[in-house]
Amino acid sequence: MTCIGAIEAGGTKFVCGIGDEKGEIRESVSFPTTSPDETLGKAIAFFRGKEVEAIGIGSFGPIDLRPGSPAYGHVTTTPKPGWANCDFLGTLRELFDVPYGWDTDVNAAALGEVRWGAARGLDSCLYYTIGTGVGIGVYTEGRLVHGLVHPEGGHTPVRRHPDDAFAGLCPFHGDCLEGMAAGPALEARWRVKGHELPANHRAWEIEAFYIAQSITGAVLLNSPEKVILGGGVMQQSQLFALVRAAVKRNLNGYVSAGELLERIDDYIVPPGLGTQAGLYGALALGLDALQARGAAETPA
Ligand code: ADP
Ligand code: ZN
Repeated sequence: MTCIGAIEAGGTKFVCGIGDEKGEIRESVSFPTTSPDETLGKAIAFFRGKEVEAIGIGSFGPIDLRPGSPAYGHVTTTPKPGWANCDFLGTLRELFDVPYGWDTDVNAAALGEVRWGAARGLDSCLYYTIGTGVGIGVYTEGRLVHGLVHPEGGHTPVRRHPDDAFAGLCPFHGDCLEGMAAGPALEARWRVKGHELPANHRAWEIEAFYIAQSITGAVLLNSPEKVILGGGVMQQSQLFALVRAAVKRNLNGYVSAGELLERIDDYIVPPGLGTQAGLYGALALGLDALQARGAAETPA
């Protein structure tokens, strides 16, 4: 049985695990994200002596994913104290000389859902996290999208809800999707904790309006076979029906797919892996890295 290390590196907390090729995670730990030294130190302490054959990492970002770039494996321009230009991968590499999989936290979660979750067997999906921030992982034509840097779908501009005067919280853009719809925006707009807002509160209609707007654009641009919505805010399960209805209204029948017209309940869905999509995704990244190394070393 393979022994693969997995790291879900979130801006709030880290989860480290050990898993195998069957997608079973047999051990994991979680700790808050503090300084890079302390946090990576805890991750290293967890993996020490475990003889991992590869490590997969899904990290908060922005991160450098360009092979050959001097900053490959770094967290780049994050405002998170201490983490800007942190050599995440290099720090681990010094201790563990194994193949690494390295991608964004949301891309990892998308991959986890493709391998073992709600998008199993599909060639494409989008994975949204709507929590402290908004992030969108993009898996298309059987691979995770990187492109120029990596997708940053949480920061796309949105059209304002006609009843919403909230200025938005994004330090870069004000009223982008994250600025209007992440957990902190919701809480600043209504001045209560998200979990304290009743399920029938108008807040959820406005929240769904922004999420649905993003999904509508993404469906038109990217044509994903599944849209998965995770993160703390999506614990409000009434949001699913509101989002699905708003996406249908926005598309107005234009995209002629049964998934959208007749089976949208099975198209816009919660993560099949629950809150663990990111950790399983990191495991999948590690497995893929091990396999890629094996393929490179096998004589033709
Ligand atoms: P993170 O994004 O930091 O990894 P989460 O996905 O848990 O963590 O998101 C945390 C955010 O989600 C908080 O800002 C909070 O506003 C919101 N949140 C968490 N639980 C709920 C809930 N039950 N209802 C509404 N909002 C919630
Ligand atoms: Zn923004």
